[in-house]
Amino acid sequence: MENPIYVTQPSLPSLPEYTQMLQQIWESKHIANNGPFHKQLETELCNYLQVPYISLFSNGTLALITALQALRITGEVITTPYSFVATSHALHWNGIKPVFCDINQTDFNINPDKIEALITPKTTAIMPVHVYGNPCNKEKIQHIADTYGLKVIYDAAHAFGVFKNDESLLNWGDLSILSFHATKTFNTVEGGAIVCHDAKMKERIDHLKNFGFTSETTIQGIGINAKMNELIASYGLLQLKNIDIEIAKRQEKVNLYRNLLEGTKGITIFQDILNVRHNYSYFPILINKQQFGKTRDEVYEILKKNNIFARRYFYPLISQFPAYSGLPSANKENLTTASQITEQVLCLPLYAELENQNIERICKILNG
Ligand SMILES: *Cc1c(COP(=O)(O)O)cnc(C)c1O
Repeated sequence: MENPIYVTQPSLPSLPEYTQMLQQIWESKHIANNGPFHKQLETELCNYLQVPYISLFSNGTLALITALQALRITGEVITTPYSFVATSHALHWNGIKPVFCDINQTDFNINPDKIEALITPKTTAIMPVHVYGNPCNKEKIQHIADTYGLKVIYDAAHAFGVFKNDESLLNWGDLSILSFHATKTFNTVEGGAIVCHDAKMKERIDHLKNFGFTSETTIQGIGINAKMNELIASYGLLQLKNIDIEIAKRQEKVNLYRNLLEGTKGITIFQDILNVRHNYSYFPILINKQQFGKTRDEVYEILKKNNIFARRYFYPLISQFPAYSGLPSANKENLTTASQITEQVLCLPLYAELENQNIERICKILNG
């Protein structure tokens, strides 16, 4: 039996280089609370991502939860059921009701034409996700938000380094959040960030992630502890040095998959979107049972028997989990596209060190 191949495998920084950074931390004894590496990583990320302000977090979920606090969001928020469950959990943890909106066939993102019908007097914000790093329809979403006086918080967990028309997606809306979890294109083991537009908001977010402290003895607002420590920030600095190579390697893998699966009956693959600089965070395919002859779950099991662990991102829909399935907006009749895609999607293994011969093996299985 061949070695198991998982959907992803994190790229790690060079151990000797990391050891050197750890040595510096050991000498300074500054291990937490906005240390020198934390500050440096914020600066370097602003430069790399082309954003004005960034606040680092211990993970993406806490960044989402804090972003909603920072904007004082309440009531109902229109969001997508086609995402990682943390998107809705962050709303729930703020006592906000998620309202699920259907998605597009083409890019898996929230369908902006379906948003307006879901707005009620309680709606305060829209929380879309740039699924697999595909840019949402910013123009339509912002137009609706402006018309109804709603905030827009982008869950940009998949969109590290993604640009459209040379503009960072992370500058869209009121706030964007990132995740640096081990499974993401840019990883700091665990980590995350909020991107914002002005110094005042950055200050508010920095206070909120540190219990609400504004000085040694002053508390402003009920904060949480969501800070990134120096061991992680230094790790992040090394990862950032390699991120362009990481993305280029992923692109090569994606191109090989595309070549090998082009024309396979019953399998839909996706090409780069015009004027978008992608980060190749995932390689989703859709399996059409009528044309392919097997269901997505059958394909998933066949790959598994071959020690290849593809993942059904995103299945089930968030709206199908018991915690959310009772909500009126969780009704499948209003989520027809999401309900169809969740049954067809399979994300194939993708990471920088994935061997070409393994991609060939995976595609050979798929091609029968
Ligand atoms: C990974 C992810 C998150 C959560 O990030 P963590 O850093 O794991 O807390 C949130 N939303 C989406 C869409 C994600 O993929």
